Amino acid sequence: MATFRHRALNEAASHVTSRHFEEKGTVSSYFGQNVLDLERMKGYMSPKAYEAVLSSVRFGAKLDRSVADQIADGMKAWALDMGATHYTHLFQPLTDSTAEKHEAFISVKDGKAFEKFNGSALVQQEPDASSFPNGGLRNTFEARGYSAWDPSSPVFIMDGTLCIPSVFVSYTGEALDTKVPNLKSLQALSVAATDVANLFDENVRSVKVNLGIEQEYFLVDESLYNARPDLMLCNRTVIGHTSAKDQQLEDHYFGAIPSRVSSFMKDFETEAYKLGILLQTRHNEVAPNQFECAPVYCEATKAIDQNMMLMIVMQKVAEKHHLKVIFHEKPFDGVNGSGKHCNWSVVTDTGVNLLSPGKTPTKNLQFLSFYASVLRAVHKHNFLLMTSVATLSNSYRLGGNEAPPSIMSVFSGSTLYGVFQDIMGLTDAQVASGKLDSIKIVNTIPEIFPDNTDRNRTSPFAFTGNRFEFRAVGSSQNVASAVYVVNSIVAESLRDFRAEVDALEAAGEERSSAVMSVVRRFITEAQDIMFEGNGYSREWEAEAGRRGLKAVRNVPEAYDIYHDPSVVNLFDSLGVLAPNEVEARYGILNETYVKKLQIEARVIGDICINHVIPAAVKYQNVLIENVKGMKEIFGDIYVDYCSSEIETLKQISLYISNISRDVEALVEARKKANRVEDIAARAKMYSHEVKDMMDKIRKSADSLEMLIDDELWPLPKYRELLFF
Ligand code: ADP
Ligand code: MG
Repeated sequence: MATFRHRALNEAASHVTSRHFEEKGTVSSYFGQNVLDLERMKGYMSPKAYEAVLSSVRFGAKLDRSVADQIADGMKAWALDMGATHYTHLFQPLTDSTAEKHEAFISVKDGKAFEKFNGSALVQQEPDASSFPNGGLRNTFEARGYSAWDPSSPVFIMDGTLCIPSVFVSYTGEALDTKVPNLKSLQALSVAATDVANLFDENVRSVKVNLGIEQEYFLVDESLYNARPDLMLCNRTVIGHTSAKDQQLEDHYFGAIPSRVSSFMKDFETEAYKLGILLQTRHNEVAPNQFECAPVYCEATKAIDQNMMLMIVMQKVAEKHHLKVIFHEKPFDGVNGSGKHCNWSVVTDTGVNLLSPGKTPTKNLQFLSFYASVLRAVHKHNFLLMTSVATLSNSYRLGGNEAPPSIMSVFSGSTLYGVFQDIMGLTDAQVASGKLDSIKIVNTIPEIFPDNTDRNRTSPFAFTGNRFEFRAVGSSQNVASAVYVVNSIVAESLRDFRAEVDALEAAGEERSSAVMSVVRRFITEAQDIMFEGNGYSREWEAEAGRRGLKAVRNVPEAYDIYHDPSVVNLFDSLGVLAPNEVEARYGILNETYVKKLQIEARVIGDICINHVIPAAVKYQNVLIENVKGMKEIFGDIYVDYCSSEIETLKQISLYISNISRDVEALVEARKKANRVEDIAARAKMYSHEVKDMMDKIRKSADSLEMLIDDELWPLPKYRELLFF
């Protein structure tokens, strides 16, 4: 009887390249057609309704209920024209994915059917908050939560449903999602950055964040995926011996895209274009069957919403190609994991990128002020920043041979690094000389074009000419949770920057020397965060230790940073998260860690007991029959002819008994941890005892995979999963 694996392999072989469907016309002719942008809105709304949306989008003005009905009318008309039948608020709960609850437009009154959608349905929906991670902010008996339209993100149509991007808050107003704190952090950053920008240009009124989010992912054939319970339930393989060939020949990166994959890419790109997502690049990544796509950067909220939409679109389109998209950070041991690099920059409403060095001394002084504030922020909160990307799944990736280390550092490139060394060497007299022109260093910063900066791909936070690239973010993560940390810490440092300059000016210093003096202080204070070398090396780990930069080695232990008063105060003073909201997030992070690890532990137990051991026993029986037969033929000297079979039998027995013993110990470790009431303490126990035991079991299972007849092995192997 063929195993499930063999049936899956046969099926996978029949999954030939599906033809991608051709959308008529050029991309520009359908780009954004499923989005109700401001232009389209004009045609569907009264001038009053349109103006109301506009001022809400531009200035965050609150929407008046009376006008909400008119806006809803316009949206409904557009949605029906587009063939939509349902609407939903689409929000981003603390699960790293999106949530939706569809409501039909259809309604009946006096026996007559009609489509109904009014202002209150647009502005607010009421999902049961207790069914989403809420960190104790909502109990089941007071379960109300609200999702509310975020007008800064346009509504769009997906699968015949009008999707309304929303925030998600509890009945009493606490944030239960990633969008709320992110919006608040953007606001805080705008205020602080405008204050600093005003030192150089009075006309700046606001500052926004631009994000370019690169998305890495794996593709696996759907039938093979379905034959791996671990991929289905955990999105990663909990066992599996490495393939003889994987990425060692470096032949996949930027290689020719397999036709099956390129057909899938074209299809999801088409759908993404219709949603106004400006995808620009696509390529093979380093690991086999690993790929990347990246849109052109745009304003942060939009970039994040679009990334979440993109993930949904990719998964939906993959179904048509009999593929599964895997966003997990480390689905396969031994090959590269996936990240979601966040390219982050700040730009004024006057159009100036504040992280772009320029030709004039004033522009350079402004650039230095912002750069120094980022350095100081990342140094001061380096552990928090690293923790913002710490999840169970990302922990399998970070600190590996090919991933950014779990120690924070900033790479600036040799030109800037040299400038910072010079600035730190300035004497007080030089700084205080007052004349900006006399500070030669500022004059000598060349205009650095993005293409001129050296790249250091081993740095978790690298400057790339006019932006920082936060490379440690995980591929499955909603980047908002990392981005609001970046926004907040930088806002705090910019606030301090302005306050210190003001104080020096009040004491009679000239502005340029006051600014230079604070720049020098911030850079000097933060110098330990600067690292230009190989972030993957052992030497850096040791050096970072000497500099007092702590690695995130254990995820639940890292979460304790959320109890640090400086962190609680950071979020509170900026109005990003209140202390009880931080505490709720702390609980949710720990709980999610425990639940995910618990699932993985159960899955590895099931796979080993129900799939691996039975296959091993079958093969033992084959060997036993063989040895018996040899004995029949050769009598006493049979041992001379089947010593290798006997040796294999012994080894298999040993691994089987090791696995049985370790799975039992794993169950015990889980039971013991589950008895621990405090969720943070339970997570720590899971991270040590449960995880260690899983590693042990995996080793035995992977050794068995190498011993057992390929015909009998029940699960698709790495070489089958990783190559099309
Ligand atoms: P690489 O892999 O070399 O880093 P990619 O082209 O894959 O480059 O991705 C770079 C990302 O950075 C793109 O999303 C791009 O739009 C974005 N980006 C470029 N300039 C900026 C900027 N000033 N601010 C934010 N993101 C930017
Ligand atoms: Mg990049």
